[in-house]
This record gives sequence, C-alpha cells and structure tokens, in this order.
Amino acid sequence: MSFKRLSEVDVRGKRVFIRADLNVPQDDAGRVTDDMRIRASVPGIRDALSRGAAVMVTSHLGRPTEGEWTAQASLAPVGARLSELLGVPVPLVRDWVEGGAWNTSLEPGQVVLLENCRFNKGEKKNVDELARKLAKLCDVYVNDAFGTSHRAEATTHGIAKYAPVACAGPLLAAELDALGRALADPQRPLVAIVAGSKVSTKLTILRALAAKVDALIVGGGIANTFILAAGGNIGKSLAEPDLVGEAKAILDEFSGKVPIPVDAVVAKEISPTAIAELKAIENVQPDDRIVDLGPTSVAALKMIVGTAGTIVWNGPIGVFEIDAFAGGTRALAEAIAASHAFSIAGGGDTVAAIAKFGVADRIGYISTGGGAFLEFLEGKELPAVAILETRADG
Ligand code: ADP
Ligand code: MG
Repeated sequence: MSFKRLSEVDVRGKRVFIRADLNVPQDDAGRVTDDMRIRASVPGIRDALSRGAAVMVTSHLGRPTEGEWTAQASLAPVGARLSELLGVPVPLVRDWVEGGAWNTSLEPGQVVLLENCRFNKGEKKNVDELARKLAKLCDVYVNDAFGTSHRAEATTHGIAKYAPVACAGPLLAAELDALGRALADPQRPLVAIVAGSKVSTKLTILRALAAKVDALIVGGGIANTFILAAGGNIGKSLAEPDLVGEAKAILDEFSGKVPIPVDAVVAKEISPTAIAELKAIENVQPDDRIVDLGPTSVAALKMIVGTAGTIVWNGPIGVFEIDAFAGGTRALAEAIAASHAFSIAGGGDTVAAIAKFGVADRIGYISTGGGAFLEFLEGKELPAVAILETRADG
C-alpha cells in the first residue's frame, strides 16, 4: 500500500482538515463514557499544530438525519474532552460547509472542531458538490479515521479527490501498516481466530481467510454453526442454521485447518445466575446453550496459538461478560499475550475482552476499527484508503 503520510507533508502555515473518528459512546446525559477514540486522534492533531498548521477536525457521531442539527448528535462533549487532552481551547463551529470568517481567520497553531459531519446534507451519499466545498476549506486533507475507511462518504472519500494534498494521519497509517504486516506478507504459521456473535457477517469472511491462513480457529456462534455442519449437537445455542451449507463447504475445502470444538461449557440460559456445566459435544442436550469452549477444545487452540508466527483475532470465543462463561476467552487472550507471534486484534467486544483480562500491552496491535477491520480481513478494498493511494503522488 502506498499513500502519502501526514508526517511527510510540510504543513507550516497551511490549513489542515483532519477527518478523525470521534464517534464515542455517551451516557443518557451526553457524557463521554469511553474516550479511547478521542485520545487516539490526539497525536495527528498535535503533530499538525506543533508544525505550524491551522487545524480543523471533524468526525461523525451517531446517525443523525442529514440537514438537522440536534444536541444529541452534537460534537460539543467531544470538543470539551479534546480541549482537555490538547490543553488548548477547541471552539466548535456549526454550519461550516460554506467556509467564512472562522476558516479565513484560523491561525497557525489554532484548532477548531467542525460540528458532526453527518449534519451536512450529502455526507453519506458522498455528493460531489459537497465534497468540492469541503476541499476548498483546506490546503491539506488528512484522513485519520480507520473506523470509517470502509465507507465512501464526503469527508472520507470525496474531499480526498479535490483537496490540494490528501494524506493519511498517523492512526490510519499505523492501522494499515499493522494490518499489512499481518496479512500481506505474514510470518507463518498465520493463525486467525474468528468468533463472537455476528455469525452471518463473519461467515463470509471465513472463506476469504481460510484460503490465506494456516489455521482457522472458530468460537462463539460461528463455532456452533461449524459444530452443526460437522453433525454435532448444539441444543438452543446461538448459530446460523441457514449458513450450515457454507460452513460445510469451508470444511470440505479446508477441513485440516479448522479444528471443530469437542467440548463446551453449557447453560440453560445466558445469565449471571445460570449454572455452568461442562459437556462433550455429543452430550449437549436440546435445551442446552453453548456459552464457551470447553477445556479440551481450549487446550487444542492454545497449542495452535503457541506455535503461530502471526495471529489475527476477532471475536470472544464465549460469553466472556459473565465470569462463569469467560474461561475460554481468558485462556485465549492469555495465550495470545504469551505468544511470540505478531498479534493483531480488533472488534468492539474483542477489545473489551482484552481490557477485561489485562493483556492489552502484550497484543502486537489493537485495531480501533470494527467494520473496517473485518472488511480488511475479508480482503475488500477500503474506499477511503484507495482514494489516498490514487493521490499518493499529488
Ligand atoms: P466483536 O465486537 O469483537 O466483533 P461480536 O460483536 O461479534 O464481537 O461478538 C461479541 C459477543 O459475542 C459478546 O457479547 C459475547 O458475549 C458473544 N458470544 C460469544 N460466544 C457466544 C456464544 N457461544 N453464545 C452467545 N453469545 C456469544
Ligand atoms: Mg460487537
């Protein structure tokens, strides 16, 4: 992948437009409950400011109706937190598409936050007229939002066509470097773990991955679908019976690479008070729910992880939020942390599991993107990255 990086661009005295991903979770009062994404965007903003740029930052937040400002989707709480982190005032600008005094009077070393870009009509549809107006606001466009790079929108794609210079910010560049290292020319054996609850979206990824990897470990609802495909019992477990054919096709083609779980932790219901029982798959009853992999299955996957050269992980292998069902995911997280392999993990709940088990600092790279991470694994082109590549020499 070849694209221009912010670090290579001389931004002194330039107006720099940064598309960040500041789409943070908030409580009912609008308070930011997890500022990871805001903190992650700080290095790019700080770099541009410290090198004498006049900086504007925008992001989407939630899914507002285009053309209608609402307090609920306002970036105001994000701006307050960003200001604390940067240690400088971060004024919030509304109705900014047409430019004006806020744009022409922005001085080097100053930063403004441009209100939620999804308030602008045409953002999601990547309307060309909007994209041209956005490009006029800046001398340098910086995409630092990996999490939305799988979507072609006006601030992630259209603007990059028309801005005088278009480049990747440090967060986006680091993501692409890490993903490229894991998948383009990986140290082998390459092991992928795909688990969690979004079965149908992730099953499509498996076929693309199965062809690339040396071992494919399945967990969660995906493992249950594979157990069904292999003729095993899953009772009332989460699975996608419609996709058993797809799972069978993957097993026919790649069976040696995909170990099927042989035992599981089961419960009659998914609740913190439920009784967890350990069962061989052949003893799973019609009213059982598989909530975690069992110790024999976990030992087998730890062996595979232990010899890996590269590990790609998406999805908890059990209902890790409930302690009685968390053993498999904990063991997996610890095995990845202990391994000498380059490891990369992504997905909202996967990152939560990594935090819960305290292994974040021993994972090679933690991706900030959910959907974009999965699409990259699937081998799809990320439109916001592709457009930067076409501008690499511009
Ligand atoms: P990510 O956000 O990392 O991409 P997902 O959203 O696909 O992961 O899945 C995470 C969820 O999957 C967790 O809330 C976890 O409780 C759930 N899960 C894992 N295994 C099972 C299972 N066997 N049955 C039901 N839910 C499961
Ligand atoms: Mg999730």
